[in-house]
Amino acid sequence: MTATCGEPVHKLQLIRAGGLLDAAGTVASPGVVLVEFGRVITAGSPESVGEVADAKIIDHTSDLLMPGLVNAHCHLDLSGPGPWPPAGDDYRAWVGRVRTLRAAASEEDTRHAVRRGIQLSLAGGTTCIGDIAGQPPAASIEELRLSPLRGTAFVEYFGIGSGQRRAVEAMYSQLAAWPVDASGIRVGVSPHAPYSCGPDVYAAAAATGRQLSTHLAETRLEAEFLKRGVGPLRDMLEHDIGVWNDEIQIPWGDDSSDQRVRESQSPLTAVLNSMHGAAVLCAHMNYMNPADMDPELMANIRLVYCPRASASFGHAPPEIEVHPWRALRDAGATVCLGTDSLLCLDTPNRISVLDEMRLLYRRDGLDPMILLDMATIAGADALAIPRCAVSLGPSVAGLMAVRASGTTPERMLADALTHNEPPSWVISPIILSATHTAY
Ligand SMILES: [Zn+2]
Repeated sequence: MTATCGEPVHKLQLIRAGGLLDAAGTVASPGVVLVEFGRVITAGSPESVGEVADAKIIDHTSDLLMPGLVNAHCHLDLSGPGPWPPAGDDYRAWVGRVRTLRAAASEEDTRHAVRRGIQLSLAGGTTCIGDIAGQPPAASIEELRLSPLRGTAFVEYFGIGSGQRRAVEAMYSQLAAWPVDASGIRVGVSPHAPYSCGPDVYAAAAATGRQLSTHLAETRLEAEFLKRGVGPLRDMLEHDIGVWNDEIQIPWGDDSSDQRVRESQSPLTAVLNSMHGAAVLCAHMNYMNPADMDPELMANIRLVYCPRASASFGHAPPEIEVHPWRALRDAGATVCLGTDSLLCLDTPNRISVLDEMRLLYRRDGLDPMILLDMATIAGADALAIPRCAVSLGPSVAGLMAVRASGTTPERMLADALTHNEPPSWVISPIILSATHTAY
């Protein structure tokens, strides 16, 4: 086929790859991907795809090709040029500095930060995202909906004691203005954390029927505060932020009208019980003891483990012996990966769970295939995105390449986790987002 300008137009492309790998069962080395007008037709071994006449040959024989990745927890509105304070051991002081900088940001500053966060996410091979939209949420939601990313913008709320009423009123009025939307970026709800939101805020969030997210068991201070109402988090709420009031009930949930919340074995299970069995995406869970938890709750937990964020704040080896993600996964929780904000990361030019995989492979020696599952299939499950969006097939949301060598696709993935090179797009989500179907 020849275009009128004389340039050849290649309807078909045959991509020759060193290897193909996804977490849904595609394993081929070497591999080929047949593409028609920018969309994947089929992917597999050269024998399974066969010869294709008139196809333009594209060489990726030094690369491993994989589906784009899922980052299930991030704060893209903290992706501005800064200067931002680096994460550190003093959580109270860090929150104070971030609050001050956020308060000084205009809406245009926030939109610029979210746009930059989207570009850094795309530079990291991300196709699907769970983003926390700070208040007011319009900048995050609108910028994400203009982007090729898919997933959920979780609108964040704060409210304890008497402050719960205002939070719940804001939640219902704002969500009325932001329908769920069945494609692209959906709008969910995120009560920030149990020390900054009371049981009424969590229950109201669950009653919306939207996708739910929260920060849970991020610090040791949290459990202490929820039991006794003391410590640096109390000081932060009372003196730094000024939201302490007489209606706050500690232990958490002790005054709840819900029997399950009152009788919960621990404050952290009370938080989960306050959502009445709804599935919830829980970021961090660095200090959750699976033995404390009702087995029924496990099926509702979608844990987003953010290893670099945990390490940045001192919640990783050697400070804590082991993160409980394995025990939660074995008990039935879905466990996926997130980055948290750019402030926690050592990669200023990209936001990517590929680098979370690298940390867990190098530091903890995890099986690369478990990591690929966490970065794709589990992330899609956690965000209620169809698995076909992260599987090598016609509905894949993006096809990326990483430089890798090895005799099998699994060994190539292990090799890609030993270096720090960024991934590149073979088929960008910018091309595929124009034609993807609603879910
Ligand atoms: Zn977070």
